[in-house]
Amino acid sequence: MSDEVFDAIVIGAGMGGMCAAARLTGAGKKVLLVEKSPYLGGRCSHRTREDCEVTTGALMVPMGPRSAIREAFDAVGADMDMVDLTGRMRYRLAHGDYDTPDDGGGLYGMIEFAMQDEAAAKALYQQLLNALFEWTPLSSITIHDWFDQYTDNQEVKNLFNGYAAALMGVNLYEIPASEFFGFLKYSSKGSRFGMAREGNAALMETLAAAMQARGSEVRRQSGCKQILVEDGCVTGVKINNNEGQDQIIRAPLVLSNTGPDKTVELAGGEAAFERSYVARLHTDAHDAPIMHASFVMDRPVMEGFDGCMVLGNTRNLIYLEIPSEISPSVSPKGKYLHTAYGAPRDAAKPDLDREFEIMLQELEDNFPGVSEEATFLVKAKHRGQSPGMHRWIGRGMPVNTSIKGLYNVGDGAAPSGTIGTESAAASAREAVAMILKN
Ligand SMILES: Cc1cc2nc3c(=O)[nH]c(=O)nc-3n(C[C@H](O)[C@H](O)[C@H](O)COP(=O)(O)OP(=O)(O)OC[C@H]3O[C@@H](n4cnc5c(N)ncnc54)[C@H](O)[C@@H]3O)c2cc1C
Repeated sequence: MSDEVFDAIVIGAGMGGMCAAARLTGAGKKVLLVEKSPYLGGRCSHRTREDCEVTTGALMVPMGPRSAIREAFDAVGADMDMVDLTGRMRYRLAHGDYDTPDDGGGLYGMIEFAMQDEAAAKALYQQLLNALFEWTPLSSITIHDWFDQYTDNQEVKNLFNGYAAALMGVNLYEIPASEFFGFLKYSSKGSRFGMAREGNAALMETLAAAMQARGSEVRRQSGCKQILVEDGCVTGVKINNNEGQDQIIRAPLVLSNTGPDKTVELAGGEAAFERSYVARLHTDAHDAPIMHASFVMDRPVMEGFDGCMVLGNTRNLIYLEIPSEISPSVSPKGKYLHTAYGAPRDAAKPDLDREFEIMLQELEDNFPGVSEEATFLVKAKHRGQSPGMHRWIGRGMPVNTSIKGLYNVGDGAAPSGTIGTESAAASAREAVAMILKN
């Protein structure tokens, strides 16, 4: 039997792989997407637990018109069925809670609430504006050092630490100042956040159906065993298909969504790559770990608030959302699905067992009754092959590799200023733009 041939093969159906396949399909390419598991979406998917749709990772997904995710859906005419989270953010500090205005934004209000001093808040806000629109601070200092220059108010630093940990998975003292402002600039360009109304898995199924309607293929339970390379050019992949047989499939383009380290392994190891590429692979190679607890209760822990809370008054607990309050279809009537995230204090050397226990204690401290009343559906510590992000913000690998035709997509190849699902989709945008230009 002769080998099957496609214009491009995408390995992995995470956000990066799905968006890359959608963009290539929209550009008229015949794409094969192979996914090793039965599910689409990777860390942006859902599993059913006790009749609740529980996320495998992401909850807040960018959906604004200029989001790379939205663009990928648009490329194949797929609908994004989302609940808009604009104006549904609450920040908790030691002295109380701050709710962002209904129309979003509210950066100044957050700062004033944290500092409880109008003049000091105005001065700091002005410095933030300068950093955004005048002189952008360099990566030679961290964003924590940047704040230290202008204020010794601890509450405002706690606020921004909660914000950074919740959104970027790393702490203020771990983020280069330039990246923090790069992120603020990127996310202010209309990337509103939302939650998938029927869960992420349903969102990904919609995208897959739209690609397939345009002639591309999605094959599940088809893990890639090898990326085939001849004379420095990619020529295809070897997969173990859903009948358990090895199969060679040919294409001049392969986009790997498996993470940069795994891509190297699949393509024959470091010896197959140019030396500077391998050196970069080992530079700043930390992942961003994250802790995840999802649980159901017979009541919501936040009465009268159906949004997302970022916590700046805690050590490890950084985020709490009640997905069923945002979209009731994700849990049975009368059951309230909650999702909490935690970040370690040292993302490079986390102590996740201990820090997970602290996170649970902080849940109880902030929302009394949880430990007695909750049924836990997920208790996960994400690292290694399934981290919060494969690389810290600003430390992503380039999307292209030293092997012709081989690209990385996903949060391990995040373009500067991007994070999470948006970074995976933005890497796909960058990779596909490079491919179509050639
Ligand atoms: C607990 C948690 C909470 C998060 N919260 C948010 C949030 O609220 N908002 C946000 O934007 N981001 C969030 N993130 C980050 C976000 O989930 C990720 O950045 C994003 O989903 C990563 O997408 P990816 O393209 O890198 O692919 P991944 O999700 O890593 O998917 C890769 C896919 O490739 C498949 N695969 C791997 N190897 C092979 C192989 N050999 N052959 C075939 N298939 C293979 C895998 O099965 C998987 O489906 C969170 C992450 C976690 C863990």
